[in-house]
Amino acid sequence: MNNFPAWRNGSYCSLADLSLSILDLGVIHSDATYDVLAVRHGRALQLDAHIDRLTASCQGWRLPMPYAVDELKAVVAELYHSSELDSAFVWFAVTRGIPDSGNPRDLAKCNTQVMAYAKPYYGFNAANSARLCLSTVPRTPDASINQRFKNWAWPDLTQSQWQAQDRGYDSAVLLDHNGYLTEGPGFNVAVIIDDVIHIPQHNVLGGITMHTVVKLCQANAIPYKYCNIDQHQLAAATDMFITSTAGDIVPVTEFESQRFTPSDQQLALKQLVKQAWTQDEYSTILHTI
Ligand code: PLP
Repeated sequence: MNNFPAWRNGSYCSLADLSLSILDLGVIHSDATYDVLAVRHGRALQLDAHIDRLTASCQGWRLPMPYAVDELKAVVAELYHSSELDSAFVWFAVTRGIPDSGNPRDLAKCNTQVMAYAKPYYGFNAANSARLCLSTVPRTPDASINQRFKNWAWPDLTQSQWQAQDRGYDSAVLLDHNGYLTEGPGFNVAVIIDDVIHIPQHNVLGGITMHTVVKLCQANAIPYKYCNIDQHQLAAATDMFITSTAGDIVPVTEFESQRFTPSDQQLALKQLVKQAWTQDEYSTILHTI
C-alpha cells in the first residue's frame, strides 16, 4: 500500500509520505475534510461533483484550499495513471495543520495540509450486498455537525458499525433524534414504499452516488422523493438499497426481520448507473484533462 502514488501540498510523493503529526488539529479535533472518488477503466465518475463537494466542504469548515479545480483534476489524473491501477479510488484530505503558536485556538495560523492518493478500488463487500440492522445510536444532527460537509467525526457511525458486527450484520443505519432514517457508516440509504424511492433529506451527507441516482430517476421518469422517513414507515418498505462511491448501488437483502429481493426500480437504476460509467455526462475520461 505504502508505494501507491500520493501528493502533498503541490508535490508528488508516495502514500508513506502522508503521515500526520499528532499536533495536527485534523488528528486531535477532526478539523479536517476529505473526499473519495472512483476511477474505472480510465473514467472518473462525477469528477466535477466530487471536486465541487471537496471545495464546498473546505468552505464549510473554513479550511483553506489553495488549489484551483483544474489543478485538483490534474492531480486525480496523474495519481490514477501513475498508480497503474485499472480501478482505483482517489482520496483527498485537507487537515487544519499545526498552529504556529502551539495554541489550538489559533485556528487562522496553521499550516493546512492538502493531500491525495490513489489506492485499489473495492466494492461494499465481496458479495456487494448488505445485511443491515438498525443502530440504537442516533446520527449526529446537522445542527451540530453539518453532514453536507464531509468530515472525520465518525464516532456515531463507528459505534453503529460495532453494533452491526456484534449482531452479525454487515452494517447499520442510524435514525436521527426525531426517529427519522438517516444513513450508515460510509453510505446513503433509500427505501421503496408504494413504488416510490424515498430518500432521507436531513442529517445525511450529500452523497454523490445518491445524487447520480436522483439524476437518473429524473431522466427516466422513475418516481422518487426526498423526505422524512419515520422508523415506523420502514415496515411498509418493499425494497431498500444503499449508495456509495464504494459499490455504487448495493442491494439490502436483510434489514432486521425484513427480507428484500431487488425491485424492478433498483435493477433499472443499477443498469443506468453501469451505463453512466461510459457516458460523458456522468463520467470523465482522465487522459483528456
Ligand atoms: N454517507 C457517508 C457518511 C459517507 O461517508 C459516504 C461516503 O463516504 C456516503 C454517505 C456516500 O457518499 P458518496 O456517494 O459520495 O460516496
